[in-house]
This record gives sequence, structure tokens and C-alpha cells, in this order.
Amino acid sequence: MQISGSCHCGNIRFSLRWEPEPPRIPARACTCSFCTKHGGVWTSCPTGSLKVTVADRSLVSTYAFGTKTADFYVCSRCGVVPVVTSRIDGRVYAVVSVNAFEGVDPALLGRAPASFDGEGLDHRLSRRKRNWIPDVEIVSSGA
Ligand SMILES: [Zn+2]
Repeated sequence: MQISGSCHCGNIRFSLRWEPEPPRIPARACTCSFCTKHGGVWTSCPTGSLKVTVADRSLVSTYAFGTKTADFYVCSRCGVVPVVTSRIDGRVYAVVSVNAFEGVDPALLGRAPASFDGEGLDHRLSRRKRNWIPDVEIVSSGA
């Protein structure tokens, strides 16, 4: 299936191709200190591909904290965080926010809390390589 999403003002849009068709979309309510504050709930398809389109790059703030291995794409116009990327061994992996989905039946979402606190760096990166979207294209215009 093809899933579209965006921040509230539309500056950051994504299109996620999820193959094969998911019976259920896992939605991980992250309990890290940042996601607790903004209500981050993430999903990814390890066999999928993602295209992110940024209309104005100057209106995107990338925020990193902790291990600084993930970049949260924060729209600086509307404040929504639709995408997170992580560069591992030269490849960009990503997860997307289910809260930014458009036109997806909420009954498809299997929401569950997820805590990665205390996870070592090697374990964290290998988990992302296994679970995150491995095929990511980011197209941006503007300054
Ligand atoms: Zn926005």
C-alpha cells in the first residue's frame, strides 16, 4: 500500500510504499524524553521505501540529541515532526510518524508503547538497520 503523510502546514510531505500489504501497522509510542514531550508515535516497514519531499528546506529544523545518531525533521512553521532519519554505514534509514498519516484507517494501527532507554549504541544501530525503512529519498528545495 501507499501511505501519504505530512506535517500540518504541508512543508514536509512523505510517501511510504509498504510492501507487502500490512494486515496491521505497528505504531510505536516512543517513551524517550523528546517523544514524550511531542507525542511521537513511529512506524516503519523494513521492506518498504520512502520518499520525503520538503518544500522549503529553510523551514525545517533537524534536531538530534542523546547519541546524536538520529535526526528529527521538525517543521519550523507548524511544529510537527513527521520523519526521523538515521545514517548508518553510509545508508539513510527512516521512520515516519503515524500521527502525520493522511487517509489511513486508524483501526489498522496497532499502538503500543516502546522504550529503547538503556540500549547500547551498537544494539540501537543494528535494530534500526533491521527495522527502519531502508530505502529513503529526500527531495528538498529552498535555501
Ligand atoms: Zn509544517
